[in-house]
Amino acid sequence: MAHHLHQRLRHEVVLRTLDVLRVERLTPHMQRVTFGGPGLHGFHSTAPDDHVKLFFPNRDGELVPPMLGPGGLEFPAGREPSPMRDYTPRRHDAARGELVVDFVLHGDGPASSWAAQAAPGQRLGAGGPRGSFMVAGDFDRYVLAGDETALPAIGRWLDELPAGARATALIEIPEAADRQMLPSRAGIEVCWLERGGASAATSPLLEHALRQLPPTEGDSFYWIAAESDRARAMRQWLDRQGVPKDWIRATGYWKADTAAA
Ligand SMILES: Cc1cc2nc3c(=O)[nH]c(=O)nc-3n(C[C@H](O)[C@H](O)[C@H](O)COP(=O)(O)OP(=O)(O)OC[C@H]3O[C@@H](n4cnc5c(N)ncnc54)[C@H](O)[C@@H]3O)c2cc1C
Repeated sequence: MAHHLHQRLRHEVVLRTLDVLRVERLTPHMQRVTFGGPGLHGFHSTAPDDHVKLFFPNRDGELVPPMLGPGGLEFPAGREPSPMRDYTPRRHDAARGELVVDFVLHGDGPASSWAAQAAPGQRLGAGGPRGSFMVAGDFDRYVLAGDETALPAIGRWLDELPAGARATALIEIPEAADRQMLPSRAGIEVCWLERGGASAATSPLLEHALRQLPPTEGDSFYWIAAESDRARAMRQWLDRQGVPKDWIRATGYWKADTAAA
């Protein structure tokens, strides 16, 4: 069995303030926000599944981001801290000074609610990426499976895979109108899985599609991101199929509210 060498990179954590430059409703459930301004200077992101921490206005509408202290992130005392959530740098253009982040509009939540009303001139706090996981480039196939929160990372994977690489993307979305154009130089197959009203926490579509994937010659790397329990279950299924552990990267991108289930 071939050995594939992944690389982990660590980056110095930098906290920034980002200005909203543009907002575009890509699809019914995806809001694209382009950030820029002097705070973006020096930003870099090296892997498709990098993430930044974004700091949103608190319930008083104030941005109260942390500072970097000896113990890590430290919020100022006496004020409600800004809620923070993880987001994927979908595209970064250092020459133009622009960072694109795609926000799923899933309903209530500081991040989703902020994205729904975002407008040029507003500001967010941001930190990171703190590290990058560089997946080995010599797999015969890359299987990228995720729900709509994974779509920014999958889109970036497909953008960045070189010609000659092969990838299969399994993407679960709320409805057909949430499909996006996903250009790539690689040889790709994209399978859109539309939930049609089913819950993103319990839908079985990704799991079924993963099980139905025709076997291919050679080594496949599996990248998975979805609701935490679902991502874990898909990893466990791949484990049971005998896929080596370091050919799988499965991450919970959000946690279903079990009290509401
Ligand atoms: C590494 C990483 C990268 C990520 N990249 C992106 C990205 O690029 N774009 C993106 O949109 N998201 C991304 N996410 C997911 C995002 O961080 C979560 O969905 C986050 O919980 C949204 O915060 P919120 O404030 O809107 O909702 P929260 O306050 O966290 O949650 C409020 C309620 O909404 C539910 N909820 C949260 N997210 C969803 C969802 N997607 N669908 C349905 N219900 C939900 C929760 O269960 C809870 O009941 C990423 C997560 C990780 C870990």
